[in-house]
Amino acid sequence: MNVLVINCGSSSLKYQLINSESEEVLAKGLCERIGIDGSAIIHQPEGGEKIRTEADMPNHTAAVKLVIEKLTDPQVGVIKSLDEIDAVGHRIVHGGEKFASSVVLDDEVLKAIEECNDLAPLHNPANLIGINSCREIMPDVPMAGVFDTAFHQTMPKKAYLYGLPLSYYQDYKVRRYGFHGTSHDFVSKRAAEILGKDRKDLKIIVCHLGNGASVSAVKYGESVDTSMGLTPLEGLIMGTRSGDLDPAIITFIAQKENISAEQVIDICNKKSGVLGLSDGVSSDFRDLAEAAGKGNEAAKTALETYAYRVAKYIGAYAAAMNGVDVIAFTAGVGENNAEVRAKIGAYLGYLGTNIDPEKNKLRGEEVILSDADAKVVTMVVPTNEELAIARETVRLVNA
Ligand code: AMP
Repeated sequence: MNVLVINCGSSSLKYQLINSESEEVLAKGLCERIGIDGSAIIHQPEGGEKIRTEADMPNHTAAVKLVIEKLTDPQVGVIKSLDEIDAVGHRIVHGGEKFASSVVLDDEVLKAIEECNDLAPLHNPANLIGINSCREIMPDVPMAGVFDTAFHQTMPKKAYLYGLPLSYYQDYKVRRYGFHGTSHDFVSKRAAEILGKDRKDLKIIVCHLGNGASVSAVKYGESVDTSMGLTPLEGLIMGTRSGDLDPAIITFIAQKENISAEQVIDICNKKSGVLGLSDGVSSDFRDLAEAAGKGNEAAKTALETYAYRVAKYIGAYAAAMNGVDVIAFTAGVGENNAEVRAKIGAYLGYLGTNIDPEKNKLRGEEVILSDADAKVVTMVVPTNEELAIARETVRLVNA
């Protein structure tokens, strides 16, 4: 079965065509600047080069049409016709409390997703546009929606409620939802598999450290806590996002800088994190490492502060689960950045684990970092959200 996985943003659309039997990526790509001047599609067939084509994309339907054109192109395509796409899996950011698992998409489900729009006003409407465009072009192809929030719906009340008047939860559904659920699920499952154990017997802390970053506590197969909240702004210090803050800072800065609270939130989302802490050096950890290596003090501080926050969350979740068996690192930084992993590892001795400097040199691979006799296994498990979406789609479509 060929599954087209779509991850649609407000002005971008990422895609992968995955053969579900071999789990091979047949082709992948990105449409960028949709609805903006200078739009382009970057397409890469399996084993081939990336091909960038400037093309007019006034809307997402035009983008989906171009994706199909590329996939079926006699030169750079990987299938002969649209008929060879058996299902489409869509990444959807926010499913609110309505969706605790993935779903087959139909009119009723789409209405329910739309009702979650105010919880993720930047992301959900874009996801819906992508879905509607695909339904327009492929009306007979079954489609599934896989939510970033669904895996965390198992969190107990004590983990998802904020210390606010209860009516805000009752009236507006203000609570912790958590994100990156597809990744936390995939990585915790895979970590157990690598160790030859059942996830239902393990307490696992997953550190998804990418440009966006979150930690989750996965106890006996279920998410019981996670660091992102109502929105993906809470928790860890990220590439450009602040993570946890004293909420009073928002109005304090607004008054000092004579800007609105919305503007401060925008700064917290786009100009903070390691970018802000490094005084503008970069949100990219490769640049930060280079700058720190050359003696840039702000870059050094950004890296220290970042690692310290991750370590604090690991401690918190070990407490939340009354122990931990596995700590798994994943995503861009977690998979590739040995320096950040080593800095975090330096805080983990009390748990009876370590990060071996030799094993830590490996990048982007499944590897156990801790010593064989460590009480807690520390490991790297590369995430694969697209494959997870494809698997979910096949499961639902075949059900
Ligand atoms: P993601 O959002 O998962 O794609 O992760 C993006 C982040 O991963 C960026 O901040 C990069 O700095 C970091 N990253 C990706 N590759 C490497 C690498 N080879 N070494 C260090 N950091 C990396």
